[in-house]
Amino acid sequence: MHQTSIQKKLLTAGRDGLPLAFKIISPVFILVAVGLAGTAVYQWFHLVMPMYGPPYTAFYFVSTGIGIFLVSQILLHYYNCIMVSPGSPGPDDRQCKRTPGLRDVDCDDNNYCKHCKFVTGEDTQHCFICGRCVTDLDHHCPWIMNCVGRDNHKYFFLFLFYVTTGCLYLACFSVPPFYTITYYHKRFSEFQPRRIDHGMLSLCAILPMTLTVAVGGMMLWHCYLLGTAQTSPEFALNCHSKLRAYKKGQRWSNPKDMGFAKNWQTRFGLENNNFWFILWLFPYVYEPSKKNYDRVEIEEDLEDGRLGNHGPSSSAIIKSHAGAVSIQQRAQTVHHV
Ligand SMILES: [Zn+2]
Ligand SMILES: [Zn+2]
Repeated sequence: MHQTSIQKKLLTAGRDGLPLAFKIISPVFILVAVGLAGTAVYQWFHLVMPMYGPPYTAFYFVSTGIGIFLVSQILLHYYNCIMVSPGSPGPDDRQCKRTPGLRDVDCDDNNYCKHCKFVTGEDTQHCFICGRCVTDLDHHCPWIMNCVGRDNHKYFFLFLFYVTTGCLYLACFSVPPFYTITYYHKRFSEFQPRRIDHGMLSLCAILPMTLTVAVGGMMLWHCYLLGTAQTSPEFALNCHSKLRAYKKGQRWSNPKDMGFAKNWQTRFGLENNNFWFILWLFPYVYEPSKKNYDRVEIEEDLEDGRLGNHGPSSSAIIKSHAGAVSIQQRAQTVHHV
């Protein structure tokens, strides 16, 4: 009994303390991230580039230009990740508020958030760090002091993409001099300065390589999620639905999944754009499509049985921001085998 009350106190302290800990640590993380980017730029000019020759040559301008472009993209998308709201349930959903003591027949208990006290969409989850409901919540990221959700997932992915590319680019320039000097104990080139900071050169080589692998792995994971119209929590639920269907001798597929190209276009607001395959890299050069789906409602077909949230034969009603039904399609999601 005594142990239970201690456990309860610990759980309460954890639940209340975690949001505070995230709010304290996140500004530190942001300073570290910006500091790392600044250090990389400084060392590029003072340590890496002098190894390759005199400044103001064509090679110097081209390689430095590409480096500055990559750093600017990293900082721009990092800013967007922090500043762009992840997306919250639309006004239509919020109308269905529960009056204390009364049961509102229109309120669906499954989608009622007891913290926000309104009915949310099926694809909405409550973030305990931010204390709000977020549409298509992937996770809360302490590095951006924000949730990753419907409206900033593309910026989060682009941030990961440019960090991976930028780190790989820096490693391509810093690893050869680091390797030559450390393992062969000889000068990398005739341009190598007499005195170099070996500790900083090691950092400029090892850290980008480590980040390329770590952030690159995360980038590939989010590429898969965006391309298959899932979030990380949905991936777990979808795996569960697949397993349940498999045990019944059926095949389950994600009713939101419209194919990689269509999913990618939808997420980046590039529907019906012939140059979507390149434009997604530069979201500031195009006006995102207004048809940015914010909800997919799945109607269960109870006659054929129930499989988790997604029935064996589901109707996917995809609503636009305006709340009007823009696409109604009947997706046969289970194929008997
Ligand atoms: Zn909520
Ligand atoms: Zn959050």
